[in-house]
Amino acid sequence: MTGSEGERLAYLRALGIDVWMLRGEEAADESAARREAAGEDAASREAVAADEAARATPADAAPAADPSADGWEALRARVSGCIRCALHEGRTQTVFGVGNPDADLMIIGEAPGAEEDRRGEPFVGRAGKLLDEMLRSLGLGRHDVFIANILKCRPPGNRDPRSEESAECRPYLRRQIALVRPRVILAVGRIAAQDLLESDEPIGRLRTRVHRFPEAGIPLVVTYHPAYLLRSPAQKRKAWQDLCRARQLLAGEDA
Ligand code: URA
Repeated sequence: MTGSEGERLAYLRALGIDVWMLRGEEAADESAARREAAGEDAASREAVAADEAARATPADAAPAADPSADGWEALRARVSGCIRCALHEGRTQTVFGVGNPDADLMIIGEAPGAEEDRRGEPFVGRAGKLLDEMLRSLGLGRHDVFIANILKCRPPGNRDPRSEESAECRPYLRRQIALVRPRVILAVGRIAAQDLLESDEPIGRLRTRVHRFPEAGIPLVVTYHPAYLLRSPAQKRKAWQDLCRARQLLAGEDA
């Protein structure tokens, strides 16, 4: 067995994939999978109602934020006090991001779920455990990379981020990317990929090639969201290809 075949099998096993039962079908909707993984409950529905009410708040009630010269501490403080969109009304706390501030690899997801909102750390629920496994397959731990999201506050009911919410949060993520200066960005899930690349191409197409993060020219690889992979394990094989692409780029090779 070659090294890479061994790694592949170890990865597939670690992720609980039955190697002989892989099916090539591309399942439908990532967002639905993420919502299902996070669990929709009555509290979520109440939160949705509160969110709708909060949307009546005028956007110009929020102070202008220009984090483009912030250092880490200033940025963290700015994010934790942010009221630029209505999501601040329903949050337990902001989820700033975690990991190595000098990481070569930056992972960018969509938005905090219920567990992340409670604990203040990205990707700590079921999907987060799978993300940890994916990182481990690259020989990396959570503290080797920097993990952040498009949104710093949880959307109620784990609904998709709204474009105005992403726009308000964008300067924070842009500043995080500028501070980390990663060699490679891994966008996990359709929402993160489309937002970062300013694209509406489907994720199944975006993941097939290396992109450049628009402003900084950083190589950017797209893969499926771990919540989607939990529901559609047959796609883990493709996610493995994406991880290999990121690993090649980290090694300074063409991918
Ligand atoms: N899904 C995400 O995209 N981000 C998180 O932090 C958790 C789940």
